[in-house]
Amino acid sequence: MIYEVVIGVEVHAQLRTKSKLFCGCGTVFGLKANSQICPLCLGLPGSLPVLNKTAVEMAVRAGLALNCTIATDNVFARKNYFYPDLPKGYQISQYEAPICEHGWIEIAAKEGKRRVRIRRAHLEEDAGKSVHVAGANGSRIDLNRAGTPLLEIVTEPDLRSSDEVVAYLKGLRDVLMYLEVCDGNMDEGNFRCEPNLSLRPLGQKELGIKVELKNINSFKFVKDAIEYEIKRQTKVFSEGGKINQETRLWNLDRGETVVMRSKEEAHDYRYFPDPDLVPLRLEKEWVEGCRKHVTELPAARLQRFVSEFALSEYDAGVLTASKSVADYFESCVKLFDQPKTVSNWVMGELTRELNNSGTDASDSPVSPERLVGLLRMVDKGTISLKVARDIFPEVYSSGKTPEQIVQEKGLMQVSDEGALAEVIDEVLAKNPMQVTQFKEGKQQVLGFLVGQVMKASGGKANPGKVNELLKKKLRG
Ligand SMILES: [Zn+2]
Repeated sequence: MIYEVVIGVEVHAQLRTKSKLFCGCGTVFGLKANSQICPLCLGLPGSLPVLNKTAVEMAVRAGLALNCTIATDNVFARKNYFYPDLPKGYQISQYEAPICEHGWIEIAAKEGKRRVRIRRAHLEEDAGKSVHVAGANGSRIDLNRAGTPLLEIVTEPDLRSSDEVVAYLKGLRDVLMYLEVCDGNMDEGNFRCEPNLSLRPLGQKELGIKVELKNINSFKFVKDAIEYEIKRQTKVFSEGGKINQETRLWNLDRGETVVMRSKEEAHDYRYFPDPDLVPLRLEKEWVEGCRKHVTELPAARLQRFVSEFALSEYDAGVLTASKSVADYFESCVKLFDQPKTVSNWVMGELTRELNNSGTDASDSPVSPERLVGLLRMVDKGTISLKVARDIFPEVYSSGKTPEQIVQEKGLMQVSDEGALAEVIDEVLAKNPMQVTQFKEGKQQVLGFLVGQVMKASGGKANPGKVNELLKKKLRG
């Protein structure tokens, strides 16, 4: 029997607001436990929620970029369940009337570009966190995260492989980061994904029983967890067994999924409209105003980079994968109109240093002005390309300008014929055999001699000039 894999994905994207969804507490990651909480975060009786307008605006912007219909009438609902990190005993979410519906996003699939439908995206508040300290008695509760705004984005079951899921997640994350509505940092948990997956005999219309996967915080683990689960379910079916509808956790150490709980149904949560919040009505003009803030998205920017800067699809794809890198590249090109050269440096030397130090391009210690300063020196022949590459790590880490470093170290390229002639004479004197070979017609040794001169000059000689002078000497 051949099985088809059917996958849908839920993403919880934390919106980049300064304050929480229903109170004025901050949303900074990594602060001391319970240092940004208030009576509302604690679920104390009598505290009342007030909706964060910026969160609504960000949700609408995301919805528009994901080609969704924006609901003008919104209702917030209480999703009731007990958990230690949820002191109110319910989470404020949207159930029947999500703010965004019926959208889509395009992904690169095996057979070419394909649309993945977005069923809904709704606003909800996050819960707190249980902290399990090794060796401590019991568990601790940190409510700093309780009440931070999330946009839960749910696809239709349109994905068919782990690669497609990763392509979807990367595409979605790019869009949200471009819109500046989410930091997209999976380690800090502000972009969390929960794939759900079922198998069915190929050709069958009806969907199989689905299993939801949780606790996955990198694209690699998404792929691993899905592939493990496909194998597991295929084995269960081949042995005549049945799949239970359940939530499973990805266990990183064991490289397998394990049962967390059997799946609850929506009616288990007893959703009802939150009586503390009035329905939210969005005016059409206000929604259109949000559309103005939907900036150029990654796919469009990629195409523009190809047409405007004559870059390859590949280079344009690498540069536009992150908004900050794309912004950096464009700032450089504005100052130095050689897009291909700039692209090579940004994708090569700069990216290497940024990755090594775990820095985002927007915080690069080498500003676009400084990088361009370096490229200009190569362009004018002040320094060789090799010297430029060699000193880049120092430009990156020392805080000095490339001009300063070149000056201090005396790395200016030597084009002066008199100075070069001296070095050349020395090299020729040391290599009489190669000189004879050249004179006998063995042209290839010229390359060797150029190399020797470059070496003797500490890489500072102008290679074009060396070539020219060497030939003159040898033929002379
Ligand atoms: Zn609060």
